[in-house]
Amino acid sequence: MEFEAVIGLEVHAQLLTKTKIFCSCKNEFGAPPNTNVCPVCLGMPGSLPVLNKKAVEYAVKAALALNCKINTYSLFARKHYFYPDLPKAYQITQYELPFAENGWVEIEKSDGTRKRIRIRRIHMEEDAGKTIHGEGLDPNSYVDLNRAGTPLIEIVSEPDISTPEEARLYMQKLRDILVWIGVNDGNLEEGSLRCDANVSIRPKGSKELGTRTEIKNVNSFRFIQKALEYEIKRQIEVVKGGGKVVQETRLFDSGKGITKTMRTKEEAEDYRYFPEPDLPPLIIDKEWLDSIKETLPELPDQVKERFVSDFSLTPYDASILVRDRDLAEFFEKAASSYEGEAKKVANLIISDLLGALNEEKLTISSSPVKPEQVSKLLTLVDKGVISLRVAKEEVIPEMVKSGKEPEAIVKEKGLVQISDEEALKEVIRKVLSQNEKAVKQYKEGNEKQKQKAVKYLIGQVMKETRGKANPKLLNELIPKVLEEV
Ligand code: ADP
Ligand code: MG
Ligand code: ZN
Repeated sequence: MEFEAVIGLEVHAQLLTKTKIFCSCKNEFGAPPNTNVCPVCLGMPGSLPVLNKKAVEYAVKAALALNCKINTYSLFARKHYFYPDLPKAYQITQYELPFAENGWVEIEKSDGTRKRIRIRRIHMEEDAGKTIHGEGLDPNSYVDLNRAGTPLIEIVSEPDISTPEEARLYMQKLRDILVWIGVNDGNLEEGSLRCDANVSIRPKGSKELGTRTEIKNVNSFRFIQKALEYEIKRQIEVVKGGGKVVQETRLFDSGKGITKTMRTKEEAEDYRYFPEPDLPPLIIDKEWLDSIKETLPELPDQVKERFVSDFSLTPYDASILVRDRDLAEFFEKAASSYEGEAKKVANLIISDLLGALNEEKLTISSSPVKPEQVSKLLTLVDKGVISLRVAKEEVIPEMVKSGKEPEAIVKEKGLVQISDEEALKEVIRKVLSQNEKAVKQYKEGNEKQKQKAVKYLIGQVMKETRGKANPKLLNELIPKVLEEV
C-alpha cells in the first residue's frame, strides 16, 4: 500500500514592536538576563496588563498580508500551564475568537508549480521566558524573563501541506512576507520565528485524516524538512509493522536527525482556558482597519509579477530581486531612471554590484552607490565612453569603495574607451611588432588559424589598453592593420 502525508503547521512569529505586548518593557533580543522586566511581565500579584496598540497594528498588518479576514471583535483568553518560564502560570492568548481567520499563501515548488496553503486562523499571544540549564558541572537551572511578554502571532495552517519540501517552502514564504512588511526580523536562530509541525499519514487518495503527531519548536528551515522526512518514514513503518500511530508530542533531535516522544495524549495538559478577565474584548473597527490597510506595501509576489511584465525580466531574475525589499526598490529606481533595457540594470546589480558590496561587507541597504548612479554608469557604456568590462571590473568596485560618481572615476582613472581609429591602430601596430608568431600564423595559416590569431591579438590589445579598447572596432581594425604589415 502507498501512503501520503498530511501536514499542518503552527508558526509563532515575534512582532518587532519597541515594547512588550502588555507592559512598557523593551522588546529586544540579547539584553543581560532579567533586565527588561517589570511587575506585569514578572507576573506580580495585583499588576494589570495593558494591550500594546502597535502590537495589534503589526498583527493586523501580517494577517492582511496573509489574506485573512479580520474579526472586528475578538477575545483574549488564559491558557494555564506550570513551567518556570511562565511567571503567571498562564499565558494570555486568544482561543475561541481569534482576531483573524481564513487566509492563504501561495508557494512555488521547485518544479515551478504553485500551490495555495490555507490559513485557518491567526491569534495574538505573549511569549514565555527562557529556561537555561547549567552547563558542565553546574547543576542549576536559570530563568531569563526578558522574553516574557514579547508579542507573538501564531499562524495556524489548514492541513493542506503534502510534503516536507512544501512545509519548508510554506515557512520560508511566511518569513519572506513578514520580514517584507516589517513586522518580524526573520531571525530563526534567535527564535523570532518557530514552528510546531503536525503530521499524519493515510493511504494514498484517502480523504480521511490519520492520527497525527506534533513536532515541537523547530527553528530552522532545514530542520523542518528533515524532521518531517524522518517522522513520515517512522509513521509508515509503524503502520506497515501492524501498529498504530499514537497521538503525541515529539521533539526533533537535530544532532541525530530523529524525532523522540516528549509526551503522549494521556499526559497532555488540560489548559483550562477561560476568557481573560483583565482585558476588554479587542475591537478592530473599520476605520482603524482601513488605516492599517493603507500602510501595507505591495507584496513580494506582486512586485515580482510587475518586474516580469513591466521590465521584461525573467521570473528568475525577478525572484532574486524581490528577496529583499530594499533590493527591489533599488532595482526599480535604477531601472526607471535608465533609458535602455531594464534587463541590463538587473544584470549589473545581481552579478556585479551585490558582489562588490559584499567584498566591502556592505549590503544594498547600506550601499554608498545610489540607484541613479547605476543607470548613469550603464549610460556611459551605451554611449561608448567605457566598455562594459571596465564598468564591471573597474568602476563598480571603485564606486562602492569611494561613493564617487561614475564619470569622476572614469576621468580620474583614465578609463575612457579608446574609439579613436588612429589611436587604436597605433596600439595595434605596437602589439603586432611584439607578436611576430601570431602575425606569421595569420599570414600563412588557413581561415581557422587566421581567426585564432585575430582573437589572440584582440586579447593582447585589451591587455595593453587595460580593457579600454572598443572591442567592436578592434574586430575590424586588426585584420586591416595585419594586411598592411
Ligand atoms: P491543536 O489546537 O490541538 O494544536 P488543531 O486541530 O487546531 O490542534 O490543529 C493544529 C494544527 O494541526 C493545524 O495546523 C492543523 O492543520 C493540523 N492538523 C490537524 N489535524 C491533523 C492531521 N490529522 N494531520 C496533520 N495535521 C493536522
Ligand atoms: Mg498544537
Ligand atoms: Zn514588563
